[in-house]
Amino acid sequence: MNEFELIGRYFKRPSPSAVLGVGDDAAIVRPAPGHDLHMSVDMLVEGRHFFADVAPRALGHKTLAVNLSDLAAMGARPRWALLSLALPRADEAWAAEFAAGFFALADAHGVELIGGDTTCGPLTLSVTILGEAPAGRALRRAAAQIGDDVWVSGELGLGALAVRQRLGWLNVNDAELLAAAQHKLEYPEPRLALGAALLPLAHAAADVSDGLLADLGHILDESAVAAEVWADALPSHPALEARRAEFLSCLAAGGDDYELVFTAPPAQRSAIEAAAADCGCRVARIGRVLAGRGARLLDAAGGQVKLDKEGYDHFG
Ligand code: ADP
Ligand code: MG
Repeated sequence: MNEFELIGRYFKRPSPSAVLGVGDDAAIVRPAPGHDLHMSVDMLVEGRHFFADVAPRALGHKTLAVNLSDLAAMGARPRWALLSLALPRADEAWAAEFAAGFFALADAHGVELIGGDTTCGPLTLSVTILGEAPAGRALRRAAAQIGDDVWVSGELGLGALAVRQRLGWLNVNDAELLAAAQHKLEYPEPRLALGAALLPLAHAAADVSDGLLADLGHILDESAVAAEVWADALPSHPALEARRAEFLSCLAAGGDDYELVFTAPPAQRSAIEAAAADCGCRVARIGRVLAGRGARLLDAAGGQVKLDKEGYDHFG
């Protein structure tokens, strides 16, 4: 099977909402009137972002999910995707499974694949996602204000727990917890409905891909403010509740969560709770924005907790 057969069989799909999809030199899209186009790209490299033995279906899901998560953090609605693949060989079974994972998530969110690039090389996957939001509206990192609450969606720490267990850094023997962690690592659910619902309610947002304190840190840097974060308020899996101290670094600084961290004025508390309930997503108020710079993690007594690392840095 050559490159063009592989694309034709597994990645050429109708894309009725694009002006022109896969097959020409470029795709053409037309955003809805009165909307801004949001664009983001993410790359996944074997051995760096995923283990070599991960199921190709999970990889297809995650390759798209991490991009959708970026648009969720903007409050934007995803519409079109471009997919770049470097593959060691034209493996049909692999492509079929990868495409199944990719398109299941794409279909669930009304995203159409409109193009890409396919080349031979060490397994590397990259998606460029295009989405839209009403003109001038977005959850920007630079928009946090002193006095805002800090919130986070879902549960933290599971993705990092799965990675650390796999690397032999942890020795967890709760099979149910490990299964939940593995699922969260392989099939993260981008918080698109929540992001869109937060557009009129929140000031700033980011998705938690590198670790809560690191990603909140980007909001604080861009907004030139500080925040305190309450270690005891970080939401986690019930099995971790009793072992909070032991897993604090997974919760506060573990990567691969793909939850949303956001700031919003206290007047929006009940509207945020209601919006989250509508989305079927848990949200937790974990701190507040203050004058100054940087994030401080506090224990129940108000003392500052120091972690070795606040998040993942590819060149750190
Ligand atoms: P070009 O040589 O102009 O770069 P290609 O031969 O790479 O074009 O691609 C042919 C068509 O197939 C283009 O429309 C491109 O967007 C699409 N395509 C290539 N790889 C993929 C992929 N992995 N997923 C979806 N579409 C793809
Ligand atoms: Mg090409």
